[in-house]
Amino acid sequence: MSLLTLQAPAKINLTLDILSARPDGYHEMEMVMQSVSLADRIRLDWGFPGGIRAESGLRFLPNDKGNLAVAAALAFRRATGQDWRDLRISIDKAIPVCAGTAGGSSDAAAVLRGLNWLTGAGLSPMELARIGEEVGSDVPYCVLGTTALAKGRGEQLTPLPSLPPCWIVLCKPHFSISTPALFREWDRKKKHLRPDTKGVLAALDQGDLIGVARRVFNVFEAVLPPHQRRVIEGIKNAMIQAGALGSAMSGSGPTVFGLFDREDLAQQAVQTLSETQEEVFLTRPLAEPPAPAAEPAE
Ligand code: ATP
Repeated sequence: MSLLTLQAPAKINLTLDILSARPDGYHEMEMVMQSVSLADRIRLDWGFPGGIRAESGLRFLPNDKGNLAVAAALAFRRATGQDWRDLRISIDKAIPVCAGTAGGSSDAAAVLRGLNWLTGAGLSPMELARIGEEVGSDVPYCVLGTTALAKGRGEQLTPLPSLPPCWIVLCKPHFSISTPALFREWDRKKKHLRPDTKGVLAALDQGDLIGVARRVFNVFEAVLPPHQRRVIEGIKNAMIQAGALGSAMSGSGPTVFGLFDREDLAQQAVQTLSETQEEVFLTRPLAEPPAPAAEPAE
């Protein structure tokens, strides 16, 4: 039996744009993604008897192939033609669930990276990302991590220069948002305000944090139901009042992030937001994908 522990970091969308609706029912996306230091901890016990299963201690998360981590292990085994049977995936969740921060996709990506290491398959990150495509749209990005432009359904990835060092406050209000309902609302609306993605790419090239922060933007915010939009706007305003250089919703929400160039202001924002919200986190952007850490075999 072999053991491995891995970090599975959350992501935020510095931008989220929809370019068009596709005939196959999906949408052409264009997103600038950033991984952050808030992370689930994944432990792989490869060879632990009992088939492939996940344990998280959370009753509302599936243990079988409904868990993205298990789905990733099955996809990896299929793609590599390997014939091992047993894997216990222990997930210590820190990333809020259904939050627009890709917690499940990141767990899946960590399993792909971990199995690649444990089984000695020697696949490249791009090959792992391709396996991840069948598990979920955000999985390929989560395999690569750091700062990247994601297009198509999210599987066409271009690595970008790192976001300059900063502090990122995450705040998840206590409701969940239906992603299909947001896409339907977007389809119904004729006109859309769009992010300045080119401007964000240029600012990243120049290492210009303020230039990035001023352009963070998510097209889903405009199609939220009014009561949810009010809450999101309220959190964004609180971030800006606390000194954030920019603030937007991540993914299909409801997590809102704020970018800060000063730690003291970010910490103050965490304190203020925590007075009304339960899930508030102070994080940093990740410039390197997290490496697997081996543990001695039991
Ligand atoms: P994204 O930002 O990619 O849209 P999200 O943050 O909105 O993701 P997740 O927390 O990744 O949402 O998961 C959403 C759904 O996936 C939930 O219904 C959850 O039950 C299911 N799920 C399956 N496996 C996992 C996992 N390992 N962690 C979290 N959710 C999981």
